[in-house]
Amino acid sequence: MATTLISGGTVVTATGRSAADVLVDGEKIAAVLAPGSTLLGHDLAGSVDTVLDATGKYVIPGGIDAHTHMQMPFGGTEASDTFETGTRAAAWGGTTTIVDFAIQRYGERVMDGLAAWHEKAAGECAIDYGFHQIIGDVNDDSLKAMETLPDEGVSSYKLFMAYPGVFYSDDAQIYKAMRVGAETGLMTMMHAENGPAIDAMVTELLAQGKTDPYYHGVARAWQMEEEATHRAIMLANLTGAPLYVVHVSAKPAVEQLAAARDNGQNVFGETCPQYLYLSLEDQLGAEGFEGAKWVCSTPLRSRHEHHQDHMWQSLRTNDIQMVATDHCPFCMKGQKDMGVGDFSKIPNGIGSVEHRMDLMYQGVVDGKISLERWVEITSTTPARMFGMYGTKGVIAPGADADVVIYDPNGHTSIGLEKTHHMNMDYSAWEGYEIEGHVDTVMSRGRVVVNNNEYLGSKGHGQYVRRATSQYLV
Ligand SMILES: [Zn+2]
Repeated sequence: MATTLISGGTVVTATGRSAADVLVDGEKIAAVLAPGSTLLGHDLAGSVDTVLDATGKYVIPGGIDAHTHMQMPFGGTEASDTFETGTRAAAWGGTTTIVDFAIQRYGERVMDGLAAWHEKAAGECAIDYGFHQIIGDVNDDSLKAMETLPDEGVSSYKLFMAYPGVFYSDDAQIYKAMRVGAETGLMTMMHAENGPAIDAMVTELLAQGKTDPYYHGVARAWQMEEEATHRAIMLANLTGAPLYVVHVSAKPAVEQLAAARDNGQNVFGETCPQYLYLSLEDQLGAEGFEGAKWVCSTPLRSRHEHHQDHMWQSLRTNDIQMVATDHCPFCMKGQKDMGVGDFSKIPNGIGSVEHRMDLMYQGVVDGKISLERWVEITSTTPARMFGMYGTKGVIAPGADADVVIYDPNGHTSIGLEKTHHMNMDYSAWEGYEIEGHVDTVMSRGRVVVNNNEYLGSKGHGQYVRRATSQYLV
């Protein structure tokens, strides 16, 4: 097995930083050593196959994006990144594991959905991948199937309080699913927006001729996120189910999560880079149909209501525990443009899987989060939340050698022509400048990106069988 020494860097974990060399043996981290250590009298640099010089750079556990939708069918089209293109883009950006969503649609069987997603991903991924299971049709058969998900390495499932007629579950269905979730140790993930009320508002707005992308954000009002978040929390309280609310974007929704946590409930929240940087006015409200680029749900929030500041604050105070992307890319041409003249027909989603590590590192540069917190919210907590910690999310002996060398003196200009490997015809982050750079990315001991060169290949990525959330024991 090949051996590599990552020497001279500063190893950063969720709990601290230290000057250390990292010895990789095959697919695993073998040792974390004082700089320049010898092992049984051997000079390590001279004994290994490869030395990666990390002098002046950070050595961090590879990013884990626990919320992606590669080639997901939605609104008559399909997310434009395949497992191949999406995981390659993820690798470029320092992410070494994704957790995507297998889907059971209405009228389908859960295990057929999971099998279909295995088929899509197998042999295609550049980095490791796991699955959450979307339950789009809660019935007796799917409730039974949920009990067997842990045997499949799937320790979390997702319900939708939005999208009536597509993925929507009513309160009785949520109650029943959460009962099974509580008994089975599955994490209940929730898209918390009041879909029926939102759909009524969409109909009203369209009837008034308000058809621009901006009104997508108006219709998906924060009140409907707060209300659904609260309802999900109460149903979780009643059933004893652990709850993880995805893509939290509104300040009042965070306050609901914080209150539930103070109350002792196992309630967690995720936010995404778009809710930390982008807004209803600046992006969704862009000239003409441009705003369609940023149509996603939950929507971008008004910059006049302090949502963004509160999101950053909640990342510091741990009211929100981690950052994922909800990567669900669609091209403007042929996909987003299905909604010209009717914002409700714009496929929901933006692509960020490539830029999450950089965008969150900029939060360190800007003094909004600490260096250690950056590692925690992008890698360590996602690993722990979804039952992968120890193997993933940490630089320690025995862990998978998923390692990123990050240069704080480097620079990354995000844009379609500059740094863009996602299969989209625009960048939602065009023009963003990052005061840092992903130099080297190692996935299970193999260097897949080095000095702006891609060295990975499809099929290297393996399916990750996940255990119960490590926050629950
Ligand atoms: Zn999503």
